[in-house]
Amino acid sequence: MVAWQLLHGRHDLPWQNTRDPYRVWLSEVMLQQTQVSTVIGYFQRFVTRFPDVRALARSSLDDVMGLWSGLGYYSRARNLHRCAIEVVQHWDGVFPGDARTLASLPGIGRSTAAAIASLCFGERVAILDANVRRVLTRVLGFDADLALHSSQQRLWDAATDLLPRRTLEQAMPRYTQGMMDLGATVCLPRRPLCDRCPVQSQCMAHGQGRPQAYPVRTRTLKRSALSVWLLWARSTSRDAVWLQRRPSPGVWAGLHCLPWFDSRAALEDQVPLDYRAALRDQPAFTHVLTHKDLHLHPVQVELPKKAFAPQAGNWFEADAWPQLGLPAPVRRILLQA
Ligand code: SF4
Repeated sequence: MVAWQLLHGRHDLPWQNTRDPYRVWLSEVMLQQTQVSTVIGYFQRFVTRFPDVRALARSSLDDVMGLWSGLGYYSRARNLHRCAIEVVQHWDGVFPGDARTLASLPGIGRSTAAAIASLCFGERVAILDANVRRVLTRVLGFDADLALHSSQQRLWDAATDLLPRRTLEQAMPRYTQGMMDLGATVCLPRRPLCDRCPVQSQCMAHGQGRPQAYPVRTRTLKRSALSVWLLWARSTSRDAVWLQRRPSPGVWAGLHCLPWFDSRAALEDQVPLDYRAALRDQPAFTHVLTHKDLHLHPVQVELPKKAFAPQAGNWFEADAWPQLGLPAPVRRILLQA
């Protein structure tokens, strides 16, 4: 795996070729639920704006959310900010150098901690993100149900057993990167490119002719649906909209959003009587979250600023929107204007 990574792995991603834990941590958190191609631009904007952990800790949560806007899974951004503050306050701005301590920081799970510790410090610890889980279960023919904690633990043990044992300082970063690269570029979920795989001769799943049967996981996500009416209140001059911060916990917690209602009647109640006839329903659309489909119904109204002042929220001028943490569909609605 080490030799293969050197020859065939990825070497040009903006968070590679460094042992700076700040950059590795940032990229790992961004990559948790997001594709590499999307992360690249966000990563570059983040490190330009916040070149180190102290700069990130000094910033406001609003700045971080604004820059994160559109990347989704916003709890990652909140934890990122909390973690930066903790590293500065309790670790004097230096990330701890071992996986166990790293995993005690906000938003850093076992696999992310192992990625940082192995890539930056050469620690002999295994990562087990979705890509690596797929590679390992296929190579080992590991058919236990990963919905069970005991099976996950067995896979962690097997992953640890396979790690390099010598010259860890050089071998561990290369091995960890190689496993990630193999999962991302060769051992693909649907059509693995087994002919290009360096471990083909040892791979049980390939021998069985059924790579797609792995990994085994019985529990399926329970999806739900929610209908939401969004009040798109615009000032008569059309240069400002009324936004409220979403409560935490909940969907889009901490982000700025158009006022959100469970029914159109509830939305109407919020609008002054004189302007209810001016409400205009916009085309509804569905926004897909991990566990939920949101059916969004924007309803637009134009009214003078002084006529509208619900308890929560503020008018925000158009030039402030780019810096605000806004859910992607809300940003899309505003940009239609
Ligand atoms: Fe994946 Fe195929 Fe390689 Fe096995 S041989 S690890 S299934 S790419």
